[in-house]
Amino acid sequence: MSPPLLKAPAAPPLKACPPLWRIRGGRGSYDSSGVGRFFRCKSLFETFSKFRTFLVLMILLFVTLLSACARSKDPESKGQSGKLIVVATLFPLYDFARNIAGDRADVKLLLPPGAEPHSFEPRTSDMVMLNRADIFIYTNKFMEPWAEKLLKGIQSSRLSVVDASSGVRFVQGSIDGGEGAYLHQNRKPGQKEDHDEHKGQGSDPHIWLDFSNAQKMVDTIAGAIIAKDPANKDLYTKNAETYKARLADLDKSYQKGLSNCSKKIFINGGHFTFGYLAARYGLRYRAAYGFSPDAEPTARNLADISKTLRQEGLGHLFYEELLSPRIADTIAKETGATLLKLHGAHNISKAEFDGNRTFIELMERNLDSLMTGLQCR
Ligand SMILES: [Zn+2]
Repeated sequence: MSPPLLKAPAAPPLKACPPLWRIRGGRGSYDSSGVGRFFRCKSLFETFSKFRTFLVLMILLFVTLLSACARSKDPESKGQSGKLIVVATLFPLYDFARNIAGDRADVKLLLPPGAEPHSFEPRTSDMVMLNRADIFIYTNKFMEPWAEKLLKGIQSSRLSVVDASSGVRFVQGSIDGGEGAYLHQNRKPGQKEDHDEHKGQGSDPHIWLDFSNAQKMVDTIAGAIIAKDPANKDLYTKNAETYKARLADLDKSYQKGLSNCSKKIFINGGHFTFGYLAARYGLRYRAAYGFSPDAEPTARNLADISKTLRQEGLGHLFYEELLSPRIADTIAKETGATLLKLHGAHNISKAEFDGNRTFIELMERNLDSLMTGLQCR
């Protein structure tokens, strides 16, 4: 009798795990249902290992995006070059800012060279530029009424908006170019105010042409730059003080140069730009138009100007930068006056921009012209 056959050992019972969870070749269970191989169930960890890699990548991406967003909202952030990006509307603000910041900032002039500043129409490219900037400086709401509209299109929360007229006292000036407006400013202490003084007046926006105002504007701009880049506070403060000292020297040159003149009135064939300058040095001033060069002078105003030129015995009539001297030309021909240029410095021409002209240089030339026109010694 042959010995009884040994019975094969019973296959271990199948583990109850879904097919996707099985791993072949494991040492867990023997699959006797056709495959004939060992398998074991995956752990939860193994099952989700691919999904986990995907999840980790997604979290990393999310964190990267989040930190990029946070950086763009960070008030201390700077441009790609590591420099602050400062955008100034008008030339004086641009020149003040670049003197304060030196090479620590990329200072841009928003107005294209030669553009008229009062009625400027901001372009889409200006909005793009401001969305990337750290600081936007404008002169005041009377000078650039278009700045408000421009800022409405800006999404950037990192942009500091600086009204450079902060702390400056506005003078009520003539909206038609007439001289009467500044009587208010020049009224002697105790002298009663004439109600007619307020007729046809508005806030004169040309504040930078009083060099004591210009110094306050430098302080305001320096404060904004320091707030964005406090690490370089000492440098900015030193630069601002140096530049203010130059403006103070300019003011002294004007006081000295205009202290002994045969004439005490000057007339501009352009718009009412030089009211602050006239008031500071005790001069009378009138212009062919009001605050905005867009306004056409009235025939009566032009006749008044010709009359004043003759009555005051003025041999010179001033005309402005960036404005057609057509009106000034007509008056000069009619009265025999010689034309002299006065630079309001709202903006500069392409040639001046390329020649790296400075605000102080322009003002020094103005003093020469004024001394000629007013017959100063
Ligand atoms: Zn102006």
